[in-house]
Amino acid sequence: MLHVGITGGIGSGKTTVCKIFEILGIPVYYADERAKWLMEHQASLVQGILGLLGQEAYTGEGKLNRSWISGKVFGNPELLSQLNALVHPAVAQDGFDWQDRQTDCPYTLKEAALLFESGSYLLLDKTIVVTAPLELRIKRVMDRDGVPRQAVQERIDRQMPEEDKVRKADYVIYNDGQRLLIPQVIAIHQGLVEAAKAMIS
Ligand code: ADP
Repeated sequence: MLHVGITGGIGSGKTTVCKIFEILGIPVYYADERAKWLMEHQASLVQGILGLLGQEAYTGEGKLNRSWISGKVFGNPELLSQLNALVHPAVAQDGFDWQDRQTDCPYTLKEAALLFESGSYLLLDKTIVVTAPLELRIKRVMDRDGVPRQAVQERIDRQMPEEDKVRKADYVIYNDGQRLLIPQVIAIHQGLVEAAKAMIS
């Protein structure tokens, strides 16, 4: 089976695009959502995080204390890379286990904001990037999350520039409010179905 990664900067519309692939019957692994879940529910990972950051990493109800963790790792690249060294392999393994459970589909999709930055694209057969003009992305995220422009801009500044992602990708989806999304998704879907067939023949 073919394993495909999909990414895009915040507000590019990658989650929206994944929903269209799901309608076409393609299973999607949402790596960022799953990482959050594993950080609260996978015992070995929880132990690792407690060992690295201490009890304050979790609230009394066992929820991840996100703002406290962000404050702790912000400006401490060594601690951030130690945290990533715990979380990334756990999510990667969980993703492989998920892939193994998928049958009856020509390919799977793995959605991750940092697909290229984390290097996880190296373990995938094809990559798709969703791209949108910067101003549109900012407005969409301000509306979606109810946050000010500055907060969105800071998140964008921490990500790889969208044009670099476009250069690295096998397929590009333009979510610029002009080109329709569904025909673009269907064209890529058909290409991937053909590629999957070629792989098994
Ligand atoms: P990402 O997952 O890349 O951060 P989302 O898919 O969540 O982006 O899209 C950001 C916001 O913009 C969401 O509220 C979504 O509904 C909206 N959105 C995305 N694409 C479109 C579009 N083509 N037309 C209108 N709204 C869109």
